[in-house]
Amino acid sequence: EAADLALVNDLADIASLKQRRALAKVITLLESTRLDHRKRADDVLNTLLPKTGKSFRLGISGVPGVGKSTLIESLGLYLIEKGHRVAVLAIDPTSSLSGGSILGDKTRMERLSVLDNAFIRPSPSSLTLGGVAEKTREAMLVAEAAGFDIIIVETVGVGQSEIAVSGMTDMFLLLQLPNAGDDLQAIKKGVMEIADLIVINKVDIDPDAAMRAQLFITSSLRLLGFQGNPDHASHNQDFWHPTVMTLSALEGKGVPELWEKIMHFEKLQRANGKFESRRKQQSGAWMWDRIDAGLKNAFRSNTAVQGLLPSLTAQVNQGTLAPSVAARRLLESMGHEFF
Ligand code: GDP
Repeated sequence: EAADLALVNDLADIASLKQRRALAKVITLLESTRLDHRKRADDVLNTLLPKTGKSFRLGISGVPGVGKSTLIESLGLYLIEKGHRVAVLAIDPTSSLSGGSILGDKTRMERLSVLDNAFIRPSPSSLTLGGVAEKTREAMLVAEAAGFDIIIVETVGVGQSEIAVSGMTDMFLLLQLPNAGDDLQAIKKGVMEIADLIVINKVDIDPDAAMRAQLFITSSLRLLGFQGNPDHASHNQDFWHPTVMTLSALEGKGVPELWEKIMHFEKLQRANGKFESRRKQQSGAWMWDRIDAGLKNAFRSNTAVQGLLPSLTAQVNQGTLAPSVAARRLLESMGHEFF
């Protein structure tokens, strides 16, 4: 109870959020599954809402080992040097399966994590991807209220988690290794469609391979219709067209150029209205996500449903009841009409 009260004081004073410990505490409250905590968390979110939304939200993904943490550290140090405050949040879809976390286990970003103007939060664990994404969205808002003006959301290259990250960020960056096999993978998984910028890392190891990968991915983007031909009149300069660049996260080479591209992206998106429309679309989708999840929860915890479920499931398994009929009966047992 005493600890709870201390929390209330922290929350009431938004200025105290500027201290990383207070911020971490609020995020812990948001991640709690206790109902009373959830209610408090909702109040906190609403109180903080006017202070949110003023950051640039950058999503970064790529397979394990591609260099995500190395790049985030380089970019983060560069941005803090420029006077920004950088929060790094992670979405690890594997943490719910393994209990451990690909992203969180190793000691990461040691130079960045000690700085006052950096805040690094590992992925919440023991949740479904939907749950992890939900907590990360909320943590993002709190970090914004705490004055972090650059939010980086990181994930590993697993299709669904990349879609979740691109669905909560202003720009989605895909990190690639300089070999063609990976590029085909990304195209197959449909990740290219959502990437605003593709960055080929480790150019220092093999500059020729990196250049070949850059050409290959650029022409793939063109074939897929994501990139206008700069030589054509149809290439509208007012809109961003996904591009490919190379860099070395380890040596920090290309990091200022990367930031320049990101700024150019933001400028175009703000000018042509896409920045705002993307955020609006994301808020709407977030709300419907929660409605879907809430309805599913209500369904699963409904006593009438729980009573019917075993026998109807058995009948469906035996082939004596059509799945669609079983579904409708279960839904209607909640007392509503369903189509
Ligand atoms: P993550 O799993 O995507 O976060 O990858 P890490 O950032 O942990 O990097 C994996 C390994 O690649 C580490 O040993 C890094 O030092 C190395 N690495 C990352 N970026 C570069 C780079 O630009 N050049 C080289 N040569 N190695 C790199």
